[in-house]
Amino acid sequence: MISWQRIFGTPGVRRGKFTVSPGCHVSMPEIQRCQTRPGPGAAMWRGLRGFCPACGNGKLFAAYLKQVDLCSACHEPFGHVRSDDAAPWLTILVVGHITLPIVVSVERYIHWPFWVSITVWPVFALGLTLAILPRAKGLLLSAIWATRAPGSERERESLD
Ligand SMILES: [Zn+2]
Repeated sequence: MISWQRIFGTPGVRRGKFTVSPGCHVSMPEIQRCQTRPGPGAAMWRGLRGFCPACGNGKLFAAYLKQVDLCSACHEPFGHVRSDDAAPWLTILVVGHITLPIVVSVERYIHWPFWVSITVWPVFALGLTLAILPRAKGLLLSAIWATRAPGSERERESLD
C-alpha cells in the first residue's frame, strides 16, 4: 500500500531556509546531510513550477532551458541530471493533445479565410510549445532527481 508520506516525503521541520528531519540536531554547515528529501510528487510539483525539487526555494533554471549546476538556496547539484529528449517528447504529446481538438472544433464552426488558419494555428502551437517546454523539462528533471533514476552522468561515472 502506498502511503502519502511515501509519495510526498516525511514532514520536515523548518530551520532557517532548510527543511530538516524532525530528529536532526546537527549544525548548519552539516544540515544538508539530514535535509528532508521530498517524495516524487512534491519534487515534481516544484520542478513543474521551475523551482528546486529538493528545497522548493531556489530556481531550477539559470536560463530558458539551462538548469542550474547547484541550487542557490540548498546547494543541491542538478548539473549532472539529464532529461535528454524526454522534455520535447512530453511537450509534443501535450501540445498535440491540446491543439488538435481546438483546431478541429474551431474550424468546424468558424469559416475564416485559409490564410488566417495557416497563420493562427502555427502561432498558437508555437506559443503553447514555448510555454510548456521548460515546465516539461522541470517536471522530468525533478522526477529523475527524486527517483534517483539511473542514466545521470554522475551515476554513469561511478559505474566506470
Ligand atoms: Zn534547493
